[in-house]
Amino acid sequence: MLNAFRRPVLARSFTSRAVNGFTEAIGNTPLIYLKGLSERTGCRVLGKAEFQNPGGSVKDRAALGVITDAEEKGRIKPGGTVVEGTAGNTGIGLAHVCRAKGYRCVIYMPDTQSQEKIDLLKMLGADVRPVPAVAYENPKNYNHQARDFAKTLDNAIWTDQFDNTANANAHYKSTGPEIWEQTEGKVDGFICATGTGGTLAGVGKFLKEKSHGKTQVWIADPPGSVLYSYIQSGGKLTERSGGSITEGIGQGRITNNLGTFVNDIDAALHIADAKSISMVYEMLDSEGIYIGASSALNVVAAFEMAQKLGPGHTVVTVLCDGAYRYQSRLFSKKWLHAKGLYDAIPDGLKKYAVL
Ligand code: PMP
Repeated sequence: MLNAFRRPVLARSFTSRAVNGFTEAIGNTPLIYLKGLSERTGCRVLGKAEFQNPGGSVKDRAALGVITDAEEKGRIKPGGTVVEGTAGNTGIGLAHVCRAKGYRCVIYMPDTQSQEKIDLLKMLGADVRPVPAVAYENPKNYNHQARDFAKTLDNAIWTDQFDNTANANAHYKSTGPEIWEQTEGKVDGFICATGTGGTLAGVGKFLKEKSHGKTQVWIADPPGSVLYSYIQSGGKLTERSGGSITEGIGQGRITNNLGTFVNDIDAALHIADAKSISMVYEMLDSEGIYIGASSALNVVAAFEMAQKLGPGHTVVTVLCDGAYRYQSRLFSKKWLHAKGLYDAIPDGLKKYAVL
């Protein structure tokens, strides 16, 4: 293997131009060469540092995408209201973008969510409405309540992150082109897990178009999600069962954002929680990168994809957010023991579990 191949592809170039507010600060995140995993596989394993978005996650792009799309279509006007059902990063992204653009933001979420999340959304100016945590099939589910509430208002939108394809389009228009440029068009594989499917479908579609189908796009799936078995079985949907510690990912259906792109996915990997949690610690110890569990799952998947493709390939994944939002769990011995995951962490890295 040529040494040059192992060099980081990107010396990040900054323009001196100031950006216009929060929304223009979204995107243009670094693509980080993950040295240890690259050396072990003889590949370039690269992580898109989405935790560097101004709201702290990959969902800033989707939040801006759905709001901009509604503005362009005349569905929301100055002073309007943005409503979503979400307990996580999408709500945080939407709350930021709404403040920056002067919209009211209403967030419905299951009442099982942590006080930390509720407080953060309130601090960002959102009107937070915890509702009983009932299944999607129940009309009182937080998603349906968000949709129904938006209908009662004038000049309001329900952003509908799962089925509004402005979400995947945001990645098609920004994340995908950035990765293409940052790898100088040499990207053999892209892999990530899905929640709404926006990231995988938007980036995957762009890379496949640009490479004339040469870029392999694989999906990484946590326990409790049905997409791995869907791909493996050639399109059979099964019932969801089991769960995962990885928040924000895993899916029980083919969302509109995944849409027909699901047929273009080349392969699927199932990643167990033990591997994901161990990678949270490994990334911290060996790279100094502090990522959440969905990002760690993506890194495990990128490593396994690189091993399967063989030396000399470039594999890209997504570092969705930082560990800050989950640290009271991911770095707590008590929590790790309760989940049966403490022993998954290599002995030399257990020192990081300080809580
Ligand atoms: N990781 C985290 C932490 C997330 O919040 C999300 C969004 N739910 C994802 C990954 C998945 O992104 P997407 O919705 O684009 O599939």
